[in-house]
Amino acid sequence: MLGDIVLLRRLGWRAEPPRSGSGLRRQVQASGADTTAIGRISSTSPENLGRVGGAVLLRPRQGWESPQRAEARPGYGRGSVGAPSGAPQAHGGVPLVIPIPVSVRGACPHDCPDTCAWQVTVEDGRATKLAGDPEHPYSRGTLCAKVNRFLDRVYADERVLHPLRRVGPKGSGEFERVSWATALEEIAAGLTERIERHGSQTVLPFSYMGTQGLLQGSGAGDRFFGRIGATQLVRAVCASTGSTGVSQAIGTNVGIMPEEIRHSRFIILWGTNTIVTNVHLWPFIREAQSAGARVVVIDPAATRTARSADWHVQPLPGTDTALAMGLMHVIVRDGLQDDDYLEQHANGFEDFAARLEEFTPERVAATCGVPADEIERLAHAYATSSASCIRLLVGMEHRESGAETFRTIAYLPVVTGAWRNRGEGCSS
Ligand code: SF4
Repeated sequence: MLGDIVLLRRLGWRAEPPRSGSGLRRQVQASGADTTAIGRISSTSPENLGRVGGAVLLRPRQGWESPQRAEARPGYGRGSVGAPSGAPQAHGGVPLVIPIPVSVRGACPHDCPDTCAWQVTVEDGRATKLAGDPEHPYSRGTLCAKVNRFLDRVYADERVLHPLRRVGPKGSGEFERVSWATALEEIAAGLTERIERHGSQTVLPFSYMGTQGLLQGSGAGDRFFGRIGATQLVRAVCASTGSTGVSQAIGTNVGIMPEEIRHSRFIILWGTNTIVTNVHLWPFIREAQSAGARVVVIDPAATRTARSADWHVQPLPGTDTALAMGLMHVIVRDGLQDDDYLEQHANGFEDFAARLEEFTPERVAATCGVPADEIERLAHAYATSSASCIRLLVGMEHRESGAETFRTIAYLPVVTGAWRNRGEGCSS
């Protein structure tokens, strides 16, 4: 049954000469194809091989298709190549279409500022490989540990694909499958009945972003719950606290572009285990470090990032606000503030400076557990470096007064005017 095969390779978009014999058979069998389905094709024009993604196998389909029809067919998409018109029929008259792995560009749907682009290889309607897109300027071809095995989850047997109704006690794991129509009817009836009995504000929507994307996470649900008059909730389990604090300080929570940190020369990673939880930023920090930047980690925990830094400052948990006040105390006491910047861009600095007087290094040291001389050294190094940058992340905002902490730290570059130059500022 095995006839000639056209084995297509990516090398210059050309088809290799047809081969035959046991070598081909082994190649086909190793690829898991049904050798009885392999037919004969003797000519395929390079034009029809346009987007071949590697070696392909020939498999039988219903009727020869034009390349255009094959391209339009679900499951084959752009990568399917029909046989050229007039091409020979397969052995026994079984017609052929060549299913070709297609590379589809996409983006990670997680609620994550890295917004990684990815490339998915789709074969015969099924995603078979996922990889970061090397052309994405920030992630540059890598995804994170959480998403590298995304396809395993997509095709996992445990994945819930249908509405399920609980039929046993809570926690017993007893569910029965119901149709979408039934699920929607029952939920709508339950909502209606409770709204009629108790009022619409007894409906409390709760979710966060997860993998919902912008449309579902920030659009469709809000409109629905707004329409029925449900209670409004911020519905954030992180980020809102920190962004509120930073916005109170500088009017926005938009910081510097992450790639810009490569231009920084004094980088404070405050409350972030960057290597583990902000994986795409780390190469830019390394780049800055190679160019002479000093990297400081402020974190109560001796994380991997702290161990890779040039300087690890270890305040007691929950004392970051006091530490930031102590740093600014030293900066202002020693005249290292940027008066011109403050004059142009800040309000109420005199009052703030008066408040800073209370936060002497000795007092802050007693609160934070960081030696007074280390507070002095850190304040001087931050204020006198050519391009200082602070990267904040979410840990601190999960504490009481988290917004206040973010707000206070965001004052640091305002006091030193570290927003003037490339690589300066803060980012949360
Ligand atoms: S870092 Fe991970 S979660 Fe974030 S966008 Fe990239 S792949 Fe998605």
